[in-house]
Amino acid sequence: MNATRELFDEVMVPNYAPSSVVPVRGVGSRVWDQENREFIDFAGGIAVNCLGHCHPNLVAALKEQGEKLWHLSNVMTNEPALRLAKKLTDATFAERVYFANSGAESNEAALKLARRWAIDNHGEEKNEIIAFSKGFHGRTFFTVTVGGQPAYSDGFGPKPGAVDHAEYNDLASLEALMSDKTCAVMLEPLQGEGGIISPTQEFIEGVRALCDKHNALMIFDEVQTGVGRTGDLYAYMGLGVTPDILTSAKALGGGFPIGAMLTTAEIAKHLKPGTHGSTYGGNPLACAVAEAALDTVNTPVVLDGVKQREQMFREGLNAINEKYNVFAEVRGKGLLIGAVLNDTYKGRARDFLVASANNGLMALVAGADVVRFTPSLVIPEEDIKEGLARFEKAVADVVNG
Ligand SMILES: *Cc1c(COP(=O)(O)O)cnc(C)c1O
Repeated sequence: MNATRELFDEVMVPNYAPSSVVPVRGVGSRVWDQENREFIDFAGGIAVNCLGHCHPNLVAALKEQGEKLWHLSNVMTNEPALRLAKKLTDATFAERVYFANSGAESNEAALKLARRWAIDNHGEEKNEIIAFSKGFHGRTFFTVTVGGQPAYSDGFGPKPGAVDHAEYNDLASLEALMSDKTCAVMLEPLQGEGGIISPTQEFIEGVRALCDKHNALMIFDEVQTGVGRTGDLYAYMGLGVTPDILTSAKALGGGFPIGAMLTTAEIAKHLKPGTHGSTYGGNPLACAVAEAALDTVNTPVVLDGVKQREQMFREGLNAINEKYNVFAEVRGKGLLIGAVLNDTYKGRARDFLVASANNGLMALVAGADVVRFTPSLVIPEEDIKEGLARFEKAVADVVNG
């Protein structure tokens, strides 16, 4: 059978519009397609492949667990899930872990837990969830409603209720919505999909204070920022603000689907037996790979390396900008980097993406105005240099029409 891009249109639901490139293998930060064309990977599977492609530690963990035990159910626990939960609680503020299979499911669990906690402790009235415009929390109906992009949540009929949105980095807009009916405030500690927007220190501390004042839970969606992406194991650590519930996915499995919700014992106790669940959550294969990913990322060498690599990216992108004058700003933290297009190129992020692919580079966008880079946390220096050289050619192609 010829598994070509054309087949996609014949057999797949058209909710995606993938590029014509069909990759078939990857090593580290290099990927090859069906025609054996080589790409440098600055996309990292959208902030998932934190250790690049086929990292030996992850391959070893997958092979080892793959010959031991693949799946049980939540009727029985298993060693990889227990070890991973222990390591996550040792490494963070959290005391309890719930495993899911994706970011959206982790957030779904966090929101359901917050509602339970509020109803159990304070009654049915305390049910309002506040999130932020441009926020992104996944594609289940609850999470897409909490996310702040109506384009993703409109057109599916009645939405889950008691969800409202404030403006990110605008404390007054949050304060105006909060009351003792507020059950939880959910936010990304750096908005990813919304355009790589960092919180100000004043804002993030203010959100914590408002949650404390109104006895509401603060939920950090660290699906994109977590597991080393910003140079800390979790972004909250670099901000010095601790949430009540934290969700993690994407990089957690380094490419194997897994998600987790982390919280305190006091809050966790409201998800009593039978209140929530998932067939695959805590699957031994997923947890074994995630354990290897966490062990590998959560080291000074890798985390400090993220900060060094961020510097290389910033210097390279600024040098390109000096030549071609296309960006208004390079922003983000660690290896979650956004190059914001200036007024001349506004709305044309996709053009830079396509030009990058034509020059052998995988990049991403975050909205119409931002070119996003989320490479492997251990991308070799020579791949950064080569990738930036290819990106410069792509920029030249766009600039020269
Ligand atoms: C990607 C993402 C999600 C959704 O994760 P899925 O695994 O696609 O469900 C949720 N929140 C944030 C911040 C994300 O970046």
